[in-house]
Order: sequence, then C-alpha cells, then structure tokens
Amino acid sequence: MKYVVLRDDDTHALTPVNYLEQLYRPFLDRGMSVGLATIPHVDTRITLANGQAELYLRVKNELGEGRIPIGRNKPLVDYLRANPGFEILQHGCHHNFHEFACEDPSVIIEKLEEGNKLLLEAGFEKPTTFVAPHDRFSRVGLHEVAKRFRVISAFWFELRKLSPLWWPNYAFKKFFSMAHWQVGNLKLLTHPGSLVTHTYAYDSILPRIKENIARRKLTVIMTHWWEFYRENRPDDALIDVLHQIANYLATDPNVKMVSFRDIADGKVPLN
Ligand SMILES: [Zn+2]
Repeated sequence: MKYVVLRDDDTHALTPVNYLEQLYRPFLDRGMSVGLATIPHVDTRITLANGQAELYLRVKNELGEGRIPIGRNKPLVDYLRANPGFEILQHGCHHNFHEFACEDPSVIIEKLEEGNKLLLEAGFEKPTTFVAPHDRFSRVGLHEVAKRFRVISAFWFELRKLSPLWWPNYAFKKFFSMAHWQVGNLKLLTHPGSLVTHTYAYDSILPRIKENIARRKLTVIMTHWWEFYRENRPDDALIDVLHQIANYLATDPNVKMVSFRDIADGKVPLN
C-alpha cells in the first residue's frame, strides 16, 4: 500500500472561500483529508525581493491591509470548520521570509505562541503539524517548533540546522535515502517539491504524481491554492488536472489517503 497526504499552503484571512471550495470539493466529497497550511496572522505588506506583492497576497477583501488574524474572516472560518475534511496546519505566524530562521529563541517562541493562539481563538483544533514559511529554519527555530508539534513538514532538512542529538537519526535517514524520519515521537516529513504547478506541461503532472507515489511509502503532495487563480481568474485546465489527481487518488486500490493527524498518531508507516 502507498500512502498520500495532501498539503495546500498559504490559506490566510483573505483567501476566498470559493477558491478552496472549487479546488477541494472533489477531495472532500470522497472523504479525503486536505491539510491546509494556514497563516494565522497574515501580513499583507510582505513583498517579494523585487518589491511585488507575494503571489498569495494578490487577493483582497473588506478586511483591508496590514496584519489580519485568520479569525477575522468569519465566513472563511465557518466554512473550514463546517468541512472537517480540512485539517488546519500551522504555517508560521505572519509568513515573513525569515520568520523561523531567526536565532533569537524569544522571538521564535512569541511567533509560535501567537500563531497557535490565533488558530485556537478562531475555533480550530490544536494543529499537530507545523510548516515553516519558505521552509526556512534556524537551529533555534527548529528546536522550538519540535517542542510544540508532532509533525514538521518541509521540503528538506539541513544538517547544520539540526541539534547534534538528532544527527544519528538524520544520518540513518540519509544512508537509507529515506524521505521521512523520526526523532522520538516527532515525525519529520519531506516532499518532492511543487508538482501541481503551471510551470509544468499540464499533461505531465498526473504521470509525475504517480511516479512520485510509486517511489516511496508515503508521499506529501504540496499545492498552492493561489497557483490555480493567477491574476484572480481560475485556470480551469490546471484545476481539471487537480481533479484528475483526486479521482486517481480515490480510485487506485493501492493508494490510501491519510491526514497529518493520522501521521502524528503513528497510524501511517513513514518509509
Ligand atoms: Zn507559505
């Protein structure tokens, strides 16, 4: 059996409900879990290095500009809570580029706790899983996250950012080329990059997903809702690819969809 967990990044207070509904209804209706790496306190003023707005911020609503807690968007929160197939993962706090690459533990702890508090105040369950903005961690950042979460989902883990106490486990993972690894009860998951993207030929995406699932025991498929609505218009062809993936995941008898909570609870073999 192959296991798959789905992670969509960058839901925040301005994410339109109808985008998530259009993208993920076929998953939810088939009982599949959709992990939403959610920004608890988005900062709309964050820009890319070239000064342009981050792609996930090219949406607007009446909540305006600045720092906006997820709980301020009541229709979005009500929608997510009404659909328990969505699992909320903590995605940083404000989503600054180097938010968790900072070396000061007091700053890291403050952001972790603020983000967690805002998710709980919005009425979500305590997240099992943490996703760092842009996958950037300092050693201190990773250490503090590890104390508070049961799963960390990242693109990769760098040796120099790990506590020396973790090196034997990391060396074991590296030696056996394992995608995922574990330290005590903490599960550390990697993913094969963004496969569902407009930068690939659309007819190559589903075959690529299948190849990746065949290659390992557990595959994290990562998506970005905003990628399907570049320029605030739906890319129907890319959405269709996503829905073909849903159909494949639901119907292949050798594939089982799981949630991050299942992984945290030790119900899923990692490798
Ligand atoms: Zn992100």
